[in-house]
Amino acid sequence: MSAIEFQDFSCFYKYKKEYIAALDHINLCVENGELLVILGQSGSGKTTLLKCVLGLCDYISGQLYIDGIPIDQFDLKNSNIGYIRQELNLYPHMTVYENIAFPLRMIHTPQAEVDRRVKELAALLEIDWLLTRKPKQLSGGQLQRVAIARALIKNPVTVLFDEPFSAIDPTLRTEMRQLVKKIHQTFGCTILFVTHDLTDALNLAERVVILEEGKIEAVGTPQELTQKGYL
Ligand code: ADP
Ligand code: MG
Repeated sequence: MSAIEFQDFSCFYKYKKEYIAALDHINLCVENGELLVILGQSGSGKTTLLKCVLGLCDYISGQLYIDGIPIDQFDLKNSNIGYIRQELNLYPHMTVYENIAFPLRMIHTPQAEVDRRVKELAALLEIDWLLTRKPKQLSGGQLQRVAIARALIKNPVTVLFDEPFSAIDPTLRTEMRQLVKKIHQTFGCTILFVTHDLTDALNLAERVVILEEGKIEAVGTPQELTQKGYL
């Protein structure tokens, strides 16, 4: 069974009285434990695709299954999908520790368990020395690590990255890509990584999906797509 499966799936936004397709007849199987990069220009439908997986889109047609369960029957509140948004969305008034701990607080996890998990993850992401700071006291790369730690704190089976590295410099991006690979290896999670950056696709992906105006243009390994002239 695929982790995520789109069958003839479309998603629309309502604009005045019209419905405009942001995703147009998508067919795609994401396998368990796969690191899939979704590559496309701005406006191609990348964020919409992630939002559909999170059940956040109103007007859909076709089928979307998460672990074999149709999206409309999937219990998203209790699901375990980590999501790192483009804007990171950290809580400015909370410390790094409390930002990371937040998803566990919401499910009333005992403090000893919270403490153990936060410290373990902070060590893995090399931000253990920043736990008492507030977000405004962090660099761009550090903020990203905190957002990633918060998304991983409940040990998700699937992690969605929405262009988290678009605003940072190239040297740091290389470092962050290594970090995504490390997370993939350590947790064995399925990763959907959305980007407009060709270098991300070439260096990170096991498989790349090229999205163009809501349609899948091509799917393959970075090598296959390079040979075919897509990358
Ligand atoms: P990407 O993440 O690849 O930049 P998006 O998924 O954000 O693309 O957007 C895909 C298309 O859907 C774009 O044409 C965008 O303008 C449109 N769109 C996105 N969000 C909305 C919305 N809330 N209402 C109307 N149109 C939207
Ligand atoms: Mg986007």
